[in-house]
Amino acid sequence: MDHRSFKTPAQIFVDLAEGNPQRRMAFDPAQRRAALQALSRAIHDCEAEILAALAEDFAKPEAEIRLTEILPVQAEISHALRHLKTWTKVRRVRPTRAMLGTRARIVPEPKGTALIIAPWNYPLALSLGPLVSAIAAGCAAIVKPSELAPASAAVIAQIVEEALPADLVRVVQGGVEVSQELLDQPFDHIFFTGSPRVGKIVMAAAAKHLTSVTLELGGKSPVIVGPGADLKKAARMIAWGKFANAGQTCIAPDHVYVAKQIEAPFLAELKAAIARMYGKTEEAQAASRDLARIINPDHFARLMGMIESAQSAGAKALTGATSEAASRYIAPTVLMGTDPSMRVEQEEIFGPVLPVIPFDDAADVVARIEAGPKPLALYIFERDRGLIDRLRRATSSGAVGVNVALVHYLHQNLPFGGIGNSGVGAAHGHWGFEAFTHLKPVLENRFAPLAMLMPPYRSGRMAKLAQ
Ligand code: NAD
Repeated sequence: MDHRSFKTPAQIFVDLAEGNPQRRMAFDPAQRRAALQALSRAIHDCEAEILAALAEDFAKPEAEIRLTEILPVQAEISHALRHLKTWTKVRRVRPTRAMLGTRARIVPEPKGTALIIAPWNYPLALSLGPLVSAIAAGCAAIVKPSELAPASAAVIAQIVEEALPADLVRVVQGGVEVSQELLDQPFDHIFFTGSPRVGKIVMAAAAKHLTSVTLELGGKSPVIVGPGADLKKAARMIAWGKFANAGQTCIAPDHVYVAKQIEAPFLAELKAAIARMYGKTEEAQAASRDLARIINPDHFARLMGMIESAQSAGAKALTGATSEAASRYIAPTVLMGTDPSMRVEQEEIFGPVLPVIPFDDAADVVARIEAGPKPLALYIFERDRGLIDRLRRATSSGAVGVNVALVHYLHQNLPFGGIGNSGVGAAHGHWGFEAFTHLKPVLENRFAPLAMLMPPYRSGRMAKLAQ
């Protein structure tokens, strides 16, 4: 149901705040567990609708929906249920020397009412994943899925309506205006996943109310294939990481730097990996049910423009570069001979297009990565531990994957997030819980000699406290 048909986002926010926007709404601790279990059941019960909606929005393959949408949310719920007791525990902390005679504890409290704004590319996982963290932390929430995946947004609304109390969680469907109307409200936390461009708008809106933010953004995540890489394994992992969801993944390998001495065998392995996963011929690939489609005609035109402008400036396609506009299909495309003046090397690609760039000296690759905005992920394929460590230490990125792509997203014991242009704060597991939590310090005086802090001041006594 579209809540806009009878209430504006602002009215819904006031509803959740029980008529008083200054009041912070929250799940009580007992309700959280029940809410998470109900959410898990509703996702399970709506599986057929989820599969149909994501297929309708961009022909996402069923196996990818299970692996990258349903599983991460269910795993996030199980993880939260397993650890909720520890996360919500009041932690006593020992007094420091100057605080002898006091008792101190840290009380995790829900921040209040949260706003979760999600993108279209993993519509379920990126709406409901943060919602799991919000509920675990005890926050009430408004979830705004992306208007670019409308069938998915409708299923998300259905799941939330079925599973969760309407006085604590609502889904508001709509586009930019709805998002902006929500951003005008004084939320207690905003969790945004999307582009760096909109991330800046969200942060500016949050600043008006001094609302805290988590920003999960994007950018160009590079891959380095070193001279010591296992080329067959590297090629398979990179091809899967790139072409899953048709490359529409925030942590997809954006482009590959490959050591010149292994460029030819690496390209041969990459071609073989694509043929093995998606078919040997152009026709077989176009008919593959394992390749998602591009989300809409604008993104299709953007990607084809990127490919065509690179080709007309001298780049060559090792595979792909073919397409079908009606179904928004773009074949898995590997480009060689690109250069930094081309859009494909400048903009986040966010589609099934992979430039492969040879290098002589790893120091040049490091210099290029360091000259650009900080990536969300950096992938290193190499067996030489010394080189892996040097590359990791010399670069700054949200995460590093060694001989692996994408999979760190599924590890709930790792914080997931970017740095600088790729994001602020972290999601998943305990880090997601903390994003929606205020760690409130409570200090009680029992018999501390605090009179010495007060006038008449004597410098000797103060110096003692600082020791
Ligand atoms: P987007 O930034 O265009 O949109 C995200 C959300 O913001 C949508 O719900 C949209 O309605 C809303 N929005 C758009 N313009 C707005 C505006 N002017 N004011 C207020 N709200 C606005 O992103 P997208 O195209 O949906 O997703 C792709 C981007 O998201 C890529 O850059 C990708 O890397 C990034 N991403 C990041 C992660 C991550 O976890 N770090 C995950 C997925 C996608």
